[in-house]
Amino acid sequence: MSDLDQNLAKLNQYLARFRGQGIENHIGGKNLPAISGATFNTHSPVDESLICSVAKSGKKDIDAAAQAARNAFPAWQDLQATERRGILHSMADGIEARAEEIALCECWDTGQAVRFMSKAALRGAENFRFFADRALSARDGQVLPSATLMNVTTRKPIGPVGVITPWNTPFMLSTWKIAPALAAGCTVVHKPAEFSPVTARILMEIAEDSGLPKGVLNLVNGFGDEAGKALTEHPDIKAIAFVGESKTGSMIMKQGADTLKRVHFELGGKNPVIVFEDADLERALDAAVFMIYSLNGERCTSSSRLLLQDSIAAEFEGRLIERVNKIKVGHPLDPATELGPLIHKTHFDKVTGYFETALKEGATISAGGKQIGESGYFVAPTLFTNASNDMKIAQEEIFGPVLTALRFSDEWDALEIANEIKYGLTGYIWTNDLTRALRISDRLEAGMIWVNSENVRHLPTPFGGIKASGIGRDGGDWSFDFYMEQKHIGFATGSHKIPKLGI
Ligand code: NAD
Repeated sequence: MSDLDQNLAKLNQYLARFRGQGIENHIGGKNLPAISGATFNTHSPVDESLICSVAKSGKKDIDAAAQAARNAFPAWQDLQATERRGILHSMADGIEARAEEIALCECWDTGQAVRFMSKAALRGAENFRFFADRALSARDGQVLPSATLMNVTTRKPIGPVGVITPWNTPFMLSTWKIAPALAAGCTVVHKPAEFSPVTARILMEIAEDSGLPKGVLNLVNGFGDEAGKALTEHPDIKAIAFVGESKTGSMIMKQGADTLKRVHFELGGKNPVIVFEDADLERALDAAVFMIYSLNGERCTSSSRLLLQDSIAAEFEGRLIERVNKIKVGHPLDPATELGPLIHKTHFDKVTGYFETALKEGATISAGGKQIGESGYFVAPTLFTNASNDMKIAQEEIFGPVLTALRFSDEWDALEIANEIKYGLTGYIWTNDLTRALRISDRLEAGMIWVNSENVRHLPTPFGGIKASGIGRDGGDWSFDFYMEQKHIGFATGSHKIPKLGI
C-alpha cells in the first residue's frame, strides 16, 4: 500500500463519524444542532466530494453560546492559575495524541499538503504549552510608588471573548487565539470558517476530554454574515480576536462599534522579499520559493512580491522558473506533494482570474498560469515577471501559489516599491551588508521583518501587521494585553492632604 493509500484509509476512519453525525455546535458542554435546524454541507477541495453537514447557526445560537461563556466566566477566571495551566497542558497532550487525525482531516478539508499540516497540528500543541506556562504570570503587574501612594497595577481577564478564524491552517490559527484567551482567564465563543469546520470540532473534543469546564470554550458553526456578525455585535462578548481578510476586519469594526468592542485583527498581506545583489542568492532562492509555494500560497505571511536588484534579476528569475516548474502538485495526503488544491471554487476562480489580469496588465506568465486536472481546485505554481508595482498583480493579495517579480535599481527604489502598498504584514530582506539591513529594516513598513531568513516562528516575539494588515499583536505577553484589562490601584501610605470643599 502506498503512503497515500495508507493516509486515505486512515482518513476514512477518522471522518466516518462526521459523515454519520455531521458537525454540531458545542455550547455549554452540549452538542447541539442550530436552533433553526439549518445545516450546510462542507466539501473537500480535492475532488469536491461531500465531507459532512454542519450546523448553520444564527443569532439565537450565538446568544446561547455567549450566555454559556458568560456563566462560565466567574469560575474560570477565579480558578488557580496552576489549575488552568494543568488543563491547557492536557489540551496540548490531547492535540499531540490526535495530531495525525488533525493533520489528515485538515488536509482533506482545506487542500493543504500533509507534509506541512502534520507540523501545523503540533504547533497547535506548542501554542497551548507556551500560554499554559504563562498563565501563572498573566496577572502580574508593576509597583509604581508616588510620594503619597503605593500604586500597583494588575491585570484581569476582559470577560467572554469571540474568536473568528479563517480557513487557511485553521487548526493552528485557532489555537493561536484560543490558548492565550483561556490562559488569561477568558471564556471563548469560537466561530470557525465555514469552509473548514472539521478540526475546530476536534479541538472542542480535546478540550472536553482535558477537563476544560463546560461553557469555557463554545463552538458555533456558520457563515460570517450571520453567525460571525451576531458574535461581533453581542453585548456579552467583550472582545473579538479575528484572523481573516482586511475588508472583513473593517466590517467587524463597524459591527462592533455599538458595543464598543475591543478588536484584535490579523489581516491580509502582500509581503515583499527584497533580494540585493550581495545576498546569498542560493538561500534567498530557497526562502523565496518556500514562502510563496508552501501552504498552497494561502498564507498571510507569504512572500508574494519578489523584489530583485537589476544586476541579478535575470539570472535569479531563470533559476526561479526552473524550481517553480518542478514543484510537485498533487494529492494533499501524499507525503511527496508540495502543493495541494485551493480551498474552494470561489477562491480558485479568484486566484486563476489573476492569470488573465496579469496578461491584460502586460506582465509575463513565466511559469504556471493554468489549472491542473479536471476536478478539484488544483493550480500550477505561477510566476509573473515583467511586472510593475502599479499593477493589480503587484498590489492585491492573491492568496495562492502565485508570485509577482519586480525589479529595483538601488536601496531607495527597493524601499519605495516595498512600501507603496496598503498592506504591512511582513518583509524579508536578503543582503550581506549589515548597515544596509539596518537601514532597510528601519524604514520598511511591516510589523514583522526577517533578514536573511524565511519566516521562523518564535512564540515570545510580537506577531502582527501594520497598515491594512492588522491591529494588535499576538505572542509573548502581547496576547495577554489584548485578553486582559489593566487595573491601577493606589493605596495611601499615610495621611496626605485631601482638599477640603464645603467648609
Ligand atoms: P475571511 O475574512 O473571508 O473570513 C474569516 C472569518 O471571518 C470566517 O470565519 C468568516 O466566516 C468570518 N466572517 C466573514 N464575514 C464576517 C462578518 N461580517 N462578521 C464576522 N465574521 C465574518 O477570510 P478568509 O478568506 O477565511 O481567510 C483568508 C484571509 O485571512 C487572507 O486575507 C489572509 O491574509 C488572512 N490571514 C491573515 C493572517 C494574519 O496573521 N495576518 C493569518 C491567516 C490568514
